Amino acid sequence: MNARLKTYLDSEIASLQSKGIFRMPRVLESPAGPRVRMDGRDIIQLSSNNYLGLTTHPRVVAAARRAIDEFGAGPGAVRTIAGTMTLHLMLEERLARFKSTEAALVFQSGYTANVGVVSTLMQEGDLIVSDELNHASIIDGCRLCKADRTIYRHLDYTHLGEILKAARRRTVGKILVVADGVFSMDGDVSDLRTIRALCAEYDAIAMVDDAHATGVLGKDGRGSVDHFGLKDDWDIQIGTMSKAFGVMGGYVCGPRALIDFYIHKARPFLFSSSHPPAVIAACIAAVEVMESEPQLHARLWENTRFFKEGLRRLGFNTGASTTPITPVIIGSGAKAARFSDELFEHGVYAQGIYFPMVAEEKSRVRTIMMATHTRQDLAEAIGVFEAVGRKLGVI
Ligand code: PMP
Repeated sequence: MNARLKTYLDSEIASLQSKGIFRMPRVLESPAGPRVRMDGRDIIQLSSNNYLGLTTHPRVVAAARRAIDEFGAGPGAVRTIAGTMTLHLMLEERLARFKSTEAALVFQSGYTANVGVVSTLMQEGDLIVSDELNHASIIDGCRLCKADRTIYRHLDYTHLGEILKAARRRTVGKILVVADGVFSMDGDVSDLRTIRALCAEYDAIAMVDDAHATGVLGKDGRGSVDHFGLKDDWDIQIGTMSKAFGVMGGYVCGPRALIDFYIHKARPFLFSSSHPPAVIAACIAAVEVMESEPQLHARLWENTRFFKEGLRRLGFNTGASTTPITPVIIGSGAKAARFSDELFEHGVYAQGIYFPMVAEEKSRVRTIMMATHTRQDLAEAIGVFEAVGRKLGVI
């Protein structure tokens, strides 16, 4: 290895080790579900984004199998050359209907959707106004373009309004306001009604990343735009198919002209191949399941209420979450890592989250509910939280 490279890597790794946060990902040895085998142990899973349990839903799995038999293993080219299959178009039509928009476009992931959508649209002379806790893929999209950017304090719409008011005087180009629908580390929710009103007042484009809101908020999980009753009045909706859909991929939904623009200009779409048929077919089936089995969505929320209440009653600090993501704020990164390890020793997996994902003093373990957790799973998990919380002096 190059000597400078070795020195650099050694020092980076030593720095992570000294903070107690150098750890390899745990390995899943079973399908993603509410109870899994992980690193050789049977555990209750509280860290999956598989909100509705669709990773193993029979209709979703069968659709993937059928698509391989019918269409083969891969698309053979990027979408704009020869890789657009009928399945891709079917999925885009289903997504647009699900989200009540004119059109949709599928990207390889939620990450590439955000990066592509923000960086392609926003040019020099434009302004992006972004919530301070927005996802890394939005931040990276901002970094990839020459537009100016300003951060508003998390969920602080007075601050957002001040920024937009000041911007109106000096911005010649477009203004984009972008927010996560549900914030992935805290489980709190953007107030899209207020954002929409401010965008109307200051002539700004409204964009939401519904990675954690789709399948969770709105009718049958249609997302935060539906939840706030703004279906006909929102510009850009982003989503991922790796969370509640239980599969993989990202998308943007919006007016036809916006989608046509991205088909011709978005670099992740133009220069990287799209999903194989099995993935696309599974995603189509996932939308169909969400629409036809609303009891999954209802069960996700019943579990959410039960689990949150259990943690709160024990005295844990669960932040401001109102969704199936419930953080349990511990303090330092090292203590959160220890807390997560102790939970694991007792048969529960809740991942530790530390800087740079959250501020060091707000390190936490993050729990996520699934529709497929049973009451027994959750009661058992709450019991383990109580034991570990007392042992480490958190409660
Ligand atoms: N946005 C948010 C808010 C997310 O939490 C994530 C996933 N961590 C993404 C986008 C990216 O989605 P994907 O995993 O499909 O790339």
